[in-house]
Amino acid sequence: MEKEGALVDFGKNLISTLSKRNIVVRFPVPIDRTYRDTWNIIGTHHGHPVRCAQESETTVIHGEIVGVDFSLCFGCEKCIEACPTHVFDLILDESGQPVVDPIREEDCILCLVCEIVCPVAAINVKSEGGSDDTLNSLLEGTRG
Ligand code: SF4
Ligand code: SF4
Repeated sequence: MEKEGALVDFGKNLISTLSKRNIVVRFPVPIDRTYRDTWNIIGTHHGHPVRCAQESETTVIHGEIVGVDFSLCFGCEKCIEACPTHVFDLILDESGQPVVDPIREEDCILCLVCEIVCPVAAINVKSEGGSDDTLNSLLEGTRG
């Protein structure tokens, strides 16, 4: 149970609101789902692009098929545990904070489980791409 004045922190890069009972609650701003079209590519990492928002060069998103906003991710590892194809690895960002990197995004089968389990909406999975062969074989298995 939260005390009066206690801080409920769901991650970094957050919007704050003040409740009637003077409890500060912070809500995460989800990953920008337009980032593939609107953010600038500033480099690559393990074969995937790294993009930054025009207004903030310190806010970066790693990945093309599976995007992870490093300013939101706090390394809880829920996506690592949930991903059936082991797309993610835990790394340290430039400030030494744990974040997940979509290091094997080519193996993604577009199941969207990582988006669902992430508590701060730091992940966006592209609507096409990923491992088509694996996805098709899974779909075939459901057609019985
Ligand atoms: S969409 Fe599924 S397969 Fe792709 S990274 Fe997320 S959990 Fe893994
Ligand atoms: S579930 Fe979200 S916050 Fe947790 S490690 Fe994965 S991307 Fe980061």
